[in-house]
Parts: sequence; C-alpha cells; structure tokens
Amino acid sequence: MTAECPPFPGQSSGSDAGAACPDASHLAASPPGAGAAGVQGSADPSAPDLEAEWSRAIKALNGAAEICLACHVRPDGDALGSMLAVAHALRARGLAERPSGSAPARIVASFGDRPFEIPRILRFLPGADLLSPPDLFPERPHVMVTFDAASVDRLGLLEASASAAEELIVLDHHASNTSFGTVNLVNPAAAATAVLACDLIDRLGVEMSRDIALGLYAGLVTDTGSFRYSTTSPWVHRLAARLLETGIEPGVVAHELWDRTPFGFLELLSAVLGRAQLEPDSAGGHGLVWTTVTRDDRATHGLPFEVVESVIDVVRRADEADVAVVLKEDDGGNWQVSARSKGRADVGRACVALGGGGHALAAGFTARGPAAEVMTALRRQLQGGADGAGGADGGR
Ligand code: AMP
Ligand code: MN
Ligand code: MN
Repeated sequence: MTAECPPFPGQSSGSDAGAACPDASHLAASPPGAGAAGVQGSADPSAPDLEAEWSRAIKALNGAAEICLACHVRPDGDALGSMLAVAHALRARGLAERPSGSAPARIVASFGDRPFEIPRILRFLPGADLLSPPDLFPERPHVMVTFDAASVDRLGLLEASASAAEELIVLDHHASNTSFGTVNLVNPAAAATAVLACDLIDRLGVEMSRDIALGLYAGLVTDTGSFRYSTTSPWVHRLAARLLETGIEPGVVAHELWDRTPFGFLELLSAVLGRAQLEPDSAGGHGLVWTTVTRDDRATHGLPFEVVESVIDVVRRADEADVAVVLKEDDGGNWQVSARSKGRADVGRACVALGGGGHALAAGFTARGPAAEVMTALRRQLQGGADGAGGADGGR
C-alpha cells in the first residue's frame, strides 16, 4: 500500500481527453465494489489481479539496469506528461540510494514520431533533456514502460522495440486497451494515465516534486478537459490539490495548453467551421456534426498538424449533435479522425470497428481515401452502435 494517491473514484464514464459529457451515466459501467476502501489506486473489480501486476512491475523496475519509456505517437498532455513525470521520478530515485545499492538505472524516454518533435503546446513541460529520438531507443529493451497507448501500434516507430521487450509494462486507461504488455496496469476507470503514473511513482517511493507534479497535472487537466468531463470526481480534485501543493501554477499550465495559437489558426478555423455539416438524422437520430481539415488548409497558413488537434473542441459544441467528428489530414495524406460523443453514441465502439481505439466518449481512427467515403463508413458504424451504447459493456 503506497501512501498518498487518494483511492480511485467510485464511478467513472471511462471517457478521455476531449470527451465532453456532463452525464454519461448511461454509458458508464459502474464497477462492482467501486469506491471500496481496498487497494490503493483501484476501483476495479480486478483489483487483486492489478495488485499482482503492480508487484511484478516494481520488481522489474527495481532490478533493471536500463529502463526504457515510451508514450503514444503525436503525444498529448497525458501521454508525454505521464512519461516525463515517471522519467523525473526514476532519475530522482537513481540519484537517491537504490534499494539494491546498485548503480542507477539508465533512463531512455521517447515516442515513435519522425520527425521527432515535442508538440509546441507541451514544450513548457520540464524534462526535454530526458528525451531522446526513437532511433536511439534500444531494439530489445530489458524493461520497457508504455504510457497512454491502447495498442502496440500506437507506439509508431517504437512498436518493434515494445514487441521485442523482455518485460513490457503497460500503463493505460483506455477501455480499448489490448493488454499487449507482459504486465498490464490498465484501469479504464482512471481519469488519465497520469493517475496510474502517480500510483507508480508512489509505489517507487519517490517524493512528489514540482517537475513530477507538472507532468502529472498536465495529464490530469488534459484528459479531464480542465476538470469538466464526467471523470472529474472529488478524488480527482484531491489528486490535483496534492499536485498543486508542490507550487506548480495552474494558470500557467492552462495558458500553455489552451490559450496560445498562431493567428493563422483563426483563419483556418473560419474555413473549417464554414464547411461543417450538421446531420440531425445520423448517429441513430441523435445528430452528427463533422468537418475536415486538409493538408492544404494547413499549408495555406503554414501550420503544423498538432495545431489542428483542438478543432474538435470547437466542433463538438454544436448542441444539435450528439456526435462530433473531425477528419484531419496528416502530412502523409492519411485522415486522422477524432470522434466525440455527448453520451448517446459509443464512438469508441465505432472507431474500434474501423481499426482505431479510444473510449465510449472520445475515440479516433486512421483512414485513407475520400473524406466522403470515410464518413460513410463511420456513419454506418454509428447508426448500428447508437442506442446500443447503454448496454452491459457500455462503459468498456
Ligand atoms: P484524439 O481525437 O486524437 O484526441 O483521440 C481521442 C481518443 O482516441 C484517445 O484516447 C486516442 O488514444 C484515441 N485515438 C485517436 N486516434 C486513434 C487511432 N488512430 N488509433 C487508435 N486510437 C486512437
Ligand atoms: Mn492520449
Ligand atoms: Mn489519456
């Protein structure tokens, strides 16, 4: 039992970054035994199993000469923030006396993007010096930890390293997680992977520092939409309080994450919103709103892909639509599709059926071909899936 992370919330919609849902209770599967005192860090009925996984993870990390960390491609605040927090903690632990008295473990932290660039909005996070490009990542790591990746392909260029790792510790909160690790620390009830990262740091016995807290807080605010989404519980606020007590400034984090954009983005937004379509009859009659952001749109204003990640947060505000979708064309000509539900439709199920992943309320997939055809395929999935979302596995 490790101290300080407050126990998990009693219920959760299992939503994720970008999932806006004031009441997703009809999508949420309330875990039996949720909120029971029990083991720290878990409201999951499989808590005893998770506890065995934690023991194995800590043992592997304590015995490792080298620890390799990886988060999902095109990292968001939860993926990169959680990974950097753990990297800071492992470095701090290495500087302190180690349990075995042996030399500090070497830390390698990366994500599988080429070019390897930290998204602009995350550059305020301390720890860029802890990162190295994927080319320098070991091909066959002894101990590797993944953050916020629901499946091994989400590691991009680091997928092969993960597949070859002797011990692969998966830290995640996606309902669609495929349990691709040798140790799977997956809790779909967690508001963010940062919650599991915090648990890991506590279990490693590392004291909370400002740098660690900043990474964890970035993950928590990103995935709760600044404490707006339905995963936001009293417990989540207590964790936030614990992090803020290190002296980090929530206003600075919010400004860096959400209040900065190049002027060109405003012009792009105007074009992209101007072509948004509202389809009241789609998504089982609960309404669909969607738009596209092409490579040309970005080229016109000289904008990188990461800048358009936030378009979905504007589009999903349309009251008339339960489901919002943005098709974003990446530099390779693929559509990176973001889907959000307000609670009636299970976009996670629809996106998984199309080869993607995510949660019931926030999900995505990758596709090629004309946007109209991608939308036809998605519409079909949503038509079949809407209203089925409240079933037994609705919260997945
Ligand atoms: P996003 O729309 O990129 O904010 O992603 C929303 C959720 O869907 C997150 O949980 C992502 O991990 C997941 N997701 C997005 N795109 C994909 C994809 N191509 N494959 C699998 N999962 C995805
Ligand atoms: Mn993520
Ligand atoms: Mn996450």
